[in-house]
Amino acid sequence: MSSTRPTVAEIERAIRTIPDFPNPGIQFKDITPLLADARLFAGAIDLLTERFEPGSVDAVVGIDARGFIFAAAAAVRLRAGFVPVRKKGKLPYLTHEQDYALEYGHATVAIHVDALKPGSRVLLIDDLLATGGTAAAAVQLVRKLGAQILEAGFLIELKFLHGRDQLSDIPIRSLVEY
Ligand code: AMP
Repeated sequence: MSSTRPTVAEIERAIRTIPDFPNPGIQFKDITPLLADARLFAGAIDLLTERFEPGSVDAVVGIDARGFIFAAAAAVRLRAGFVPVRKKGKLPYLTHEQDYALEYGHATVAIHVDALKPGSRVLLIDDLLATGGTAAAAVQLVRKLGAQILEAGFLIELKFLHGRDQLSDIPIRSLVEY
């Protein structure tokens, strides 16, 4: 394994677009080729966490399900805890829930009521920012627990969907933009 850090262009080349998955009209961004490449995966985690020193973040909150992969790796690198925001009905203990709108219908995400201490410093991570509904719901859950979001990080941002408008009061870091 080479130790040179990959460029964003190399990371972008490892993301595969699958047309009409899982529904017609969706251009699905498949990150599995990137994850399978040790250098690119480590480089993506380095880029997502480079603004923070180990110990400067208390918890990395990851969003169900692909967000867990990046958030857990970022948490280990930053010597921070990992906290999952999951789809409703998956977490076993007491939860707070947050509804959000989808193109058709709505969805609900949840967090354990004791997952974060008030005042704790949180980095929020997901694989992809699209309309921003999922991330905005996760932000509300983190804030319900009294924690402070330092930054929201995404491997991919679909700029044309303007998801950042839903996260306007949070610094956003995205690596690859479409
Ligand atoms: P949104 O709430 O619209 O910002 O959608 C973000 C969530 O949906 C993320 O957790 C992504 O994993 C997933 N997602 C949305 N659009 C795509 C896409 N084109 N390719 C892959 N994942 C997507």
